[in-house]
Amino acid sequence: MSRSRKPRWLKSQPPTGERFTEIKQTLREHDLHTVCEEANCPNLGECWSGADAGGSGPGTATFMLMGDRCSRGCNFCDVETGGMNALDPEEPRQVAAAVAEIGLDYVVLTSVDRDDLDDQGAGHFAETIREIKRRQPETLVEALIPDFQGEPALVGKVVDAGPDVLAHNVETVERLQWPVRDRRAGYEQSLSVLRQIANADPYAKTSLMLGVGEYDYEIYQALSDLRAVGVDIVTLGQYLQPTRSHLEVSEYVHPDAFDTWQRVAEDELGFAYCASGPLVRSSYRAGELFVEALRR
Ligand code: SF4
Ligand code: SF4
Repeated sequence: MSRSRKPRWLKSQPPTGERFTEIKQTLREHDLHTVCEEANCPNLGECWSGADAGGSGPGTATFMLMGDRCSRGCNFCDVETGGMNALDPEEPRQVAAAVAEIGLDYVVLTSVDRDDLDDQGAGHFAETIREIKRRQPETLVEALIPDFQGEPALVGKVVDAGPDVLAHNVETVERLQWPVRDRRAGYEQSLSVLRQIANADPYAKTSLMLGVGEYDYEIYQALSDLRAVGVDIVTLGQYLQPTRSHLEVSEYVHPDAFDTWQRVAEDELGFAYCASGPLVRSSYRAGELFVEALRR
């Protein structure tokens, strides 16, 4: 598939409706940011409306903690680098309040990387998880964490806060870590974080973007490595170039190929659950994935 023209399977519906407006308003009132909006995620309408839970549930949203500027600069990511703000000590309570008001049953927390902070933001993550659980214990919480430079004590801080799912994204196959990710990230470092998560209580989850120049045998190797360190849930989605100055799309992977990878991941390699498709993102149908993984 040519990389110059977006194929039809990447088209999605713009979000509309009462639920969308209501959630947006609550987020503004609490001065909070979501990846859903900031990244202009194509699944926003589906996730916020609860369609990811068959249209019956209050849905999923991904909150972005610790500001909108990152200490790193990955070549696929549209977040601004440098000039980070001081942490807002009230953010954990604001997030918990918004989750309760919106009535979300599954929350994904993620953040920019904060290499500039003493604990790289691990304590802030932990506090936010605890606040949500204190205020609304039935809400399931997934934390998508940075690599914390591979420091086990910092990963442990978040584990101890009791998230239901703990995710860290390896993003791409081993050979392409650079140029895709910031040079401070790395394949082995990410695998070590995932190994530590898998050896602890929460479900371990990760994501790979396809279409950045990887070969099939490299995807297979990456999936095997991830399974070998104990990852339970994996998502595979198409990389989309946010602006012309970002890494180019190497290929638009056909939906059939995504289906094949799902079968390989689940049937051959033994992942509890794999979501794989062009529009799949790390937190796409996150609640549903988790419930499915529990059932298996
Ligand atoms: Fe938000 Fe994730 Fe859904 Fe996108 S896939 S709308 S980021 S919850
Ligand atoms: Fe974006 Fe995360 Fe890379 Fe920062 S570390 S640039 S937020 S992908």
